[in-house]
Amino acid sequence: MNIVTFLITAVVISCGLLFLGYLVWRSRFGRPASNYIPILAYHKVDKKFELGGTWTTPGQFQKHMDYIKAKGMIPVTLSRAVELMKIGEGRNKKYVCLTFDDAYEGLYNYAWPILQKHGFFATIFVVTDYVGRENDWDVNWGGRKFRHLGWKQIIEMSEAGIEFGAHTRTHQDLRRLDDEELRNELAGAKNILEIYLGKKIGMLSYPFGRYDQRVIKAAGEYGYDAACSLSPQMKNNQINFMALRRSAVYITDVMWNYQNKIFQEGRFFWLQDLWCRMVNFCAGGTIVAQNTIKIFRSPKRIFRDKSPKNP
Ligand SMILES: [Zn+2]
Repeated sequence: MNIVTFLITAVVISCGLLFLGYLVWRSRFGRPASNYIPILAYHKVDKKFELGGTWTTPGQFQKHMDYIKAKGMIPVTLSRAVELMKIGEGRNKKYVCLTFDDAYEGLYNYAWPILQKHGFFATIFVVTDYVGRENDWDVNWGGRKFRHLGWKQIIEMSEAGIEFGAHTRTHQDLRRLDDEELRNELAGAKNILEIYLGKKIGMLSYPFGRYDQRVIKAAGEYGYDAACSLSPQMKNNQINFMALRRSAVYITDVMWNYQNKIFQEGRFFWLQDLWCRMVNFCAGGTIVAQNTIKIFRSPKRIFRDKSPKNP
């Protein structure tokens, strides 16, 4: 096979796979609800290299916020996005919701100054047992650890209008927990945030985006008003406020697919949605690795101490 034949074959196979991917996406998930407000899910915003891929550099983040500003979009917190969707304002296509999972210290150092400069608001989800500590709950590929926001920083940002929500106490796959552990993760995280911030905490983000009907029921019973997944199981034209779909932002994102996360009525939204779902599916590998590491450390360590930490 000469090089031309090889290239033509590769292009034909790639186009075929793309078309097949589109057909699968169209029948399984389809286009978003017209009233949906795009919700972006950031993780780390930091200069420090990370192997996981869920980080964004401060330069990229600056470009993203500049883009949102240039397009005249209004970034809102998750609770505001939920309110707007409930009254049908999502149809106006002028809002975007910014969320940050895990509450890393890089948000205070790099993302928040950029948000402040633009006058933007956002929602940050906190792993409450790890406030002010390194992310030992994570697999940390390559041994690179990151510090989480401390209470002083969280309180300062909260007082300036940043919304905080719960990302549970110890960042576990909630579906695997028994009822008592589930209560501890959901109610415990909410309580400690409410104590420190002095305001009601109604927003939740499921670790790894994973949930099931028992988890949704428990989240409602413990007082959450809305909850985020990443790639929920229902079709995109259905909005479940206890399992909201979000578009994750990765280090590999260029502006072309970033705009497809924001303008979800666009022609190529399907490609980024399918990509986000595939990446989130692969996060299952992280859950397995996390649980394996836990076995080698101390299986009972996580739930031995039920008292809230006070770093
Ligand atoms: Zn997380």
